[in-house]
Amino acid sequence: MVPTPITVRVPAKLNLHLSVGDSRSDGYHELVTVFQALSLVDEITIRTAEEPGLDVRGEGAEVTPTGVDNLAWRAVTELARHCGRDPENPGVRVSLNKGIPVAGGMGGGSADAAATLLALNSLWRLEMGREELAEVAGRLGSDVPFALQGGTALGTGRGERLVPVLARHTYHWVIAMNEEGLRTPDVYGELDRLRQTSSNRVGDVEPVLEALASGDPRELALLLGNDLQAAAVSLRPVLRRTLRAGVDAGALAGIVSGSGPTCAFLCTDEEAAVRVAAELSGAGVCRTVRVAQGPVPGARLVGDDKAD
Ligand code: ATP
Repeated sequence: MVPTPITVRVPAKLNLHLSVGDSRSDGYHELVTVFQALSLVDEITIRTAEEPGLDVRGEGAEVTPTGVDNLAWRAVTELARHCGRDPENPGVRVSLNKGIPVAGGMGGGSADAAATLLALNSLWRLEMGREELAEVAGRLGSDVPFALQGGTALGTGRGERLVPVLARHTYHWVIAMNEEGLRTPDVYGELDRLRQTSSNRVGDVEPVLEALASGDPRELALLLGNDLQAAAVSLRPVLRRTLRAGVDAGALAGIVSGSGPTCAFLCTDEEAAVRVAAELSGAGVCRTVRVAQGPVPGARLVGDDKAD
């Protein structure tokens, strides 16, 4: 009998705090980050198919690779290898429905990889536990384990070593997406360049963790910080206007998400977020505006009723 298609929903990530260390000899930067999973999601359906492949629809579908470069497909081949299947002919078709902006600094590709692992674990009846899945996830990219875990978490190393963080409150965010993405390596390169003349760095992570434990969005707003923000703004100066427009519209604070160019604005409550979103969409400083909440759970099976 052909197994029923499996659908998984997976959240975007936002870095509430992103401290970037100096470039290491292997080219990577040591990170200290606080991730939060947001209710901006991709949906992935995987089915058994004689002709393997991948298709994409939704937000940014036209600029998402559909071949072996797609992170979801890399997850298929990695997991096939891991469980002794033929990675060249895994016998599945992957359908991505994107809600997370592509190349937006919200970890969309990593989210799809995480969702793919979870879906295949079910489709192929592998019965891998969360720990084994997280281990395979870590091989695919530093943001992939967090997409499996969700919630709010402290990430160290390259972001892949995770500890859950107590977050008492649901936070309300407005997400401003841009016309064109930024390449993460370009943003790190720009940061290295800016650091030749500037010593600006975000503060310690502890106060951020305390603010999250208190649950007061006003306290958290004062502590949001991202070392990549200056580099993203330097490459995309319009972001300065976007960030200002969100605060002028009534947000408590705004931050560039990861390597950008997506900006996230923290609001006092849901009502304020809807108001800020409405004003921001008329301000001409971004392409699309969404409201989102966090924290939300990581990748989750939604059952075969969603399969199309
Ligand atoms: P980062 O995790 O570095 O913050 P990002 O969120 O900025 O990444 P992604 O949406 O993950 O960006 O995409 C980065 C690049 O990866 C894109 O330019 C795209 O070409 C490629 N890519 C591969 N697979 C996917 C996927 N499933 N969804 C989106 N982009 C993908």
